[in-house]
Amino acid sequence: MHNNHKIKPKNHPETIDTLIHARWIIPVEPHNTVLNHHTIAIHEGHIVELLPSAEASKKYQADTEHRLDEHALIPGLINAHTHAAMSLFRGLADDLPLMDWLQNHIWPAEGKWISPEFVADGTRLAIAEMLRGGTTCFNDMYFFPDETARVADNVGMRAVVGLIVIDFPTVWAATPDEYLHKGIEVHDHYRHHPLIRTAFAPHAPYTVSDEPLQRVITFAEEMDVPIHMHIHETAHEVSEASSQTGLRPLARLTKLGIVTPRLMAVHMTQLSDGEISHLASSGAHVVHCPESNLKLASGFCPVQKLLAADINLALGTDGAASNNDLDMFSEMRSAALLAKAVADDASALTAAQALHMATLGGARALGLDDNIGSLVPGKAADITAVNLSALETQPVYHPISQLIYAAGREQVSDVWVAGQHLLKERELTTLDLHTIIEKARNWAEKIQAADELPGM
Ligand SMILES: [Zn+2]
Repeated sequence: MHNNHKIKPKNHPETIDTLIHARWIIPVEPHNTVLNHHTIAIHEGHIVELLPSAEASKKYQADTEHRLDEHALIPGLINAHTHAAMSLFRGLADDLPLMDWLQNHIWPAEGKWISPEFVADGTRLAIAEMLRGGTTCFNDMYFFPDETARVADNVGMRAVVGLIVIDFPTVWAATPDEYLHKGIEVHDHYRHHPLIRTAFAPHAPYTVSDEPLQRVITFAEEMDVPIHMHIHETAHEVSEASSQTGLRPLARLTKLGIVTPRLMAVHMTQLSDGEISHLASSGAHVVHCPESNLKLASGFCPVQKLLAADINLALGTDGAASNNDLDMFSEMRSAALLAKAVADDASALTAAQALHMATLGGARALGLDDNIGSLVPGKAADITAVNLSALETQPVYHPISQLIYAAGREQVSDVWVAGQHLLKERELTTLDLHTIIEKARNWAEKIQAADELPGM
């Protein structure tokens, strides 16, 4: 076998792992492109080539071939801001503003229930939901990031786990020092992992003081990881900080030196024109979470202005307790619709731009765009197949429009992460749905039985 290539005639098919033949491929790079009747060739977890299906079977001999004649292939969606384990709090406290929701409901429930087991079970529920909805990578912020990473690794899901830092003590860590050190341990453990990365995740300007933030900046530089933080989520956050310190949170963070290309600023519903041009020159990224902002009445991120200023935008669902799902298809649609309403302009955030935010925009924000975010040769085979044959998505004039404005996550048929087939005709291959549901119900029973929670 070792000298096979020498005697192989020039036109002999090349042996590779997988061919996926599709009706449409939307590679995201180049922008707004649809390839008809094309095939993706995959070998050892990476994309080898995109080529017309008629040529693919002559050029390649694959161990596995998939014919997806009614499907669009897109890059796996990147959920650029979530708190995966909070899926176990889905529907626990709704219809409340952010600070009431956090201080009177979520923080007390977290204080009582968070444990390694809770985080593992909640993360498994979240990953199952995300995979079934076409998401192949999530950027997380939560306690016990070691558990989040362990579960993602077991499933084969790509993840950036947040090394959370917060001033007050929790079951994960007692002091900012301990948060930092435990976070660095998690980073060291996964340093060379192919699917798991880390980012520092100082919670928000109002929960992390200057001294730990300065240390986050130093460590993030040394470890070469992003910084993932909720910033300017509500008008209340900005006015409280202004009256207490005389500075808006973004100005304080700028003074501390955190506003750089490393920063993923989540929410950003309150931005002056001056702040937008400052953000643009800083190279920081904005993660837009339209449904969480709508549900908590947090405010409106000025998406069209940010795009006009050439600021990279990513898209996130936020946690399932404030959304209440981890559905990147509905998030893309909400983002496109909301941007139009906020800008009073129907051309604001086109379908192709919404898809870009949910894929390549997320990859850039995470510093992973050399490996994921678009379907181009050399990148990882993180791929989502969407079956557009359903009545609800017929007829198909423009596949990208159909994906953003008409399709639902239930039309996701198959998902690959680094070439591994994690969702196969809607069946999860590395997770047991029955066990996940049973565990979620057990947690809800325990949480509901606790008397101090209202309305139960
Ligand atoms: Zn959040």
